[in-house]
Formats: sequence, C-alpha cells, structure tokens
Amino acid sequence: MTSRKPMIAGNWKMHNTIKESMELVKGLGEEIKDLDKNAMPEVVLAPVFTSLSSVNDKLVECGCKKMVLASQNCYYEPKGAFTGEVALSMLKEFESLEYVIIGHSERRQYFGESDEMINKKAIAILANGLKPIICCGETLEQREQGVTDSHIQKQITTALNEISAEDTAKSVIAYEPIWAIGTGKTCDSTEANRVIKMIRETVKNLKGENAANSMRILYGGSVKPETIEEQMAQSDIDGALVGGASLKADSFAKIIKGAMVKAAV
Ligand code: PEP
Repeated sequence: MTSRKPMIAGNWKMHNTIKESMELVKGLGEEIKDLDKNAMPEVVLAPVFTSLSSVNDKLVECGCKKMVLASQNCYYEPKGAFTGEVALSMLKEFESLEYVIIGHSERRQYFGESDEMINKKAIAILANGLKPIICCGETLEQREQGVTDSHIQKQITTALNEISAEDTAKSVIAYEPIWAIGTGKTCDSTEANRVIKMIRETVKNLKGENAANSMRILYGGSVKPETIEEQMAQSDIDGALVGGASLKADSFAKIIKGAMVKAAV
C-alpha cells in the first residue's frame, strides 16, 4: 500500500493558442466537475508559455483547485541577458503553478538540454518553492543494446546531484521511453513498472528510503484512456505524463477517471 497521491499531468507541448487553451480548460472543467476532489489524482496542466496567464486566471477564478499548472520549461538563472528564456520568479507569479517539467526528451533532442543543465534547473526550481517533474528515458537503440537501466541511472543520478532527501521527496520523475512518445506504441506496463522500480531503487541508494518511497514516479509514452487502468494497477506507477491524449478534454478526463481507483485507495 502506498500513500503517494497519484498524478495525471498533461503536456500540451507547442499546441494551442490562448483561445484554444481556454476552450480546452473549460471543456475539462465540465468533464470533471462532478468528480470528488479527494478521490481524484492530482491533475496538472502544462500549457505553452503564452497560455499560462489566461489558464492560471481561469483556475484561480474557478477556485475548485482540481487542477494545477506546470511550466514546460524554465531557465535556472534568476534574470538577465538570456533572450527567449523564462525565469522561475516569472513562473511563480502564477498562483496555481506548482511544477516545472524539465528534461523532456524533445528538449534534450532539439534544444541540447544536458543532464547537468537539468540538474541546475531542478536545484533552481526547488529553491524557488516549486517542484520539478524530471523526465528520463531511453531511445529504442539503447533499449536494443541493453543499456536502458544504466542510461536512466546516469540521468537520475546527475539530475538529483546536490538535491537534499527532503527536496527529492517533493520532486516527481517521469519515465518516458523515447520510442513510446507520440508513436502510439505504449511500453508494456509490467516492463514500465520494472523500470520505475529500478528508478526508485536508484533514488533510495542516492537519497534514502524515505525520499524514494515518497517520490512520485510517473509513466509517459502514448498513454490513452484504454491503457491507464492497467498502468495504474502496477505497484510503482504513480500516474502518467500524457501528451497527445491530453489535448482533448474527453480523452484526458477519461484518463483522470481511470486513475481514480488508485487515487481513492
Ligand atoms: C509526452 O509528451 O511526454 C508524451 C508522453 O507524449 P504522448 O503521450 O503523446 O506519447
């Protein structure tokens, strides 16, 4: 039995204008309005930067606290000449923003985000009172070469460098096999659970049992309404980071509802 509160996070990636974001959050609000908040997983929405302000205002106005926000990225420096970047003090202005996604495979692949940079971001996020959702995962090639576990251990060990056990416990890890992201190919849930247990063991060796048992570790990679119940039934999967299926209110709501069995335990 676990006391970790399940989390369902929607990564909207580079989708949705402000108008489209508002339609999505409104539709989602309708879909989940009758759900008991205490029985729900923690629901996190990660809109594009330009929509954060409007979505935040909507969530604050509604006051139901059934959904909170995440930023899809941040920079670790407090301010200055870093054109195109966003500082944590700016993200903290949004009342309902609690999380920052870092190390997503698309940021690693297209924008050169390294494990060291992810570590600097994680430290800065926690120092600003927010919580990182740290993504990790292997390519298909790495899986075929049998280096999945060692690759992920390195990603996690570097990302958590110089982070206290207490801050580790508040942080979230998302295991996202890269070959499963946006491909429709979901990782077998028992294998996802095996990797997540291995991540928890790595965290335990680095930061102790309490941090490892408190930290939520999500699965991400083509999660759909049809897959969530089986995924949530696994011992160590604490929730999901959802891309494509979070862009439609009805499919994301089905995923939230599918995670409720575990949330209510
Ligand atoms: C993601 O963007 O983190 C993701 C898992 O995407 P998808 O659900 O579309 O595979």
